[in-house]
Amino acid sequence: MKKIMDKESGWTKIDENKKELIFKFSQEYIDFLNLAKTEREANKVIIEQLEANGFSQITNFKELKSGDKIYYNNRNKSVFAAIIGSSNLTEGANIIGAHIDSPRIDLKPNAIYEDVKLALFETHYYGGIKKYQWTTIPLAIHGIIIRKNHEKLEFNIGEDSGDPVFTITDILPHLAQKQYEKKIGEAVDGESLNILIGSIPDATTKSIKDNILAILNEKYQINESDFYSAEIEIVPAFKACDLGLDRSMVAGYGQDDRVCAYTLLKALIDSNNIETTQIAIFADKEEIGSYGNTGMYSSVFDYFVNEMLTKTNNNYAGALTKTYCNSKMLSADVGSAVDPNYQDVSEKTNSSYLGYGVELNKYTGSHGKSGASDANSEYIFYVRELFEKNDITYQVSELGKVDIGGGGTIAYILANKGMDVIDCGVPVISMHSPYEVTSKFDIYASYEAYLAFFTSNEKVNY
Ligand code: MN
Ligand code: MN
Repeated sequence: MKKIMDKESGWTKIDENKKELIFKFSQEYIDFLNLAKTEREANKVIIEQLEANGFSQITNFKELKSGDKIYYNNRNKSVFAAIIGSSNLTEGANIIGAHIDSPRIDLKPNAIYEDVKLALFETHYYGGIKKYQWTTIPLAIHGIIIRKNHEKLEFNIGEDSGDPVFTITDILPHLAQKQYEKKIGEAVDGESLNILIGSIPDATTKSIKDNILAILNEKYQINESDFYSAEIEIVPAFKACDLGLDRSMVAGYGQDDRVCAYTLLKALIDSNNIETTQIAIFADKEEIGSYGNTGMYSSVFDYFVNEMLTKTNNNYAGALTKTYCNSKMLSADVGSAVDPNYQDVSEKTNSSYLGYGVELNKYTGSHGKSGASDANSEYIFYVRELFEKNDITYQVSELGKVDIGGGGTIAYILANKGMDVIDCGVPVISMHSPYEVTSKFDIYASYEAYLAFFTSNEKVNY
């Protein structure tokens, strides 16, 4: 192995008490993952926890003063939360932003069909998945259907013991000769990701689809056309849990980016800064480019900050831009840790390792940093010094080797508004797969990092 900077695993630096604390924190995180497998579910759990900790809707306030805790629910899919500080908001806020959507498989609006004596769901995948990973595993259905009487039916099937599960079938090896010859990215076609949902024919019409429709009508009082206005997401049915004989890791679906969302939520709740305003962003649609009214490109975040300016009596033409230009942000998103089975995609001098702490990425992008927000030296120094002062274990890395790929986060969208931004999150192995792997040490380190960032009242020294 290449000689890298002398670093030690975070686990060697802590005592039994700290380890216990980390394991307890991770168990609560695992419970969160199992409750929040979709962006709507994450939105709901986050708001529940915010309310239980003294946050209330910004619309409940005519005026905002130091210490007030507020949130804004954007269409049940993304959340902004804040603690108002005593200093003028236009002097800048401490902002941390994570996303709560994850790669998955969505149902098409014309969802149900019958073929070769089986009933299936048509799907359109969401985000960057390796399609072959989603076949022959147990899948659960999560979603929302609005009944004709305006009732919202929010449901999941496949999560409780005793629930049926669903699956996407694959070719038996005996007949897979043609599939084996294909490139791995083409071996499973997007149109082959159909979900198997039934096989009993209706007693009178002999149609399997009719029988499924009858079940849906009887059990849920929904019709075929109700799927037009439904949002139904297919996610792995298995639960997140401890990984390894030493139980040092977490395996589970949707850790990109709910691991950062959870640690951010905890950091905001535990933050006691009364001087600088602290803002947490829980964004939707990051995995498909941050577009749409719940994605980070939308003006809804501007609206939220504008409302804060108005309600703290600081609003005037230019106040919003001034606020942004004086603000600092951590883009709380996952990075990639070195995978022992696929080491050659990482340049090991600039890679993250499981258990070596929260990671900082100066830039993302691909092929010559294209599309990257490249954090400034002065700002990275600020963050680094903050972590070192607070004894937070961190590592500095890139996603992978130069010119073999790349990625992005919401960092550049906020940096475009004028604030200092750096990516800072938990390293992951098997990212975007149905079963992502993280280290409990890194999860806790990211919580500590976010808490320290929220709590700081220092300025970046340009
Ligand atoms: Mn992400
Ligand atoms: Mn992602």
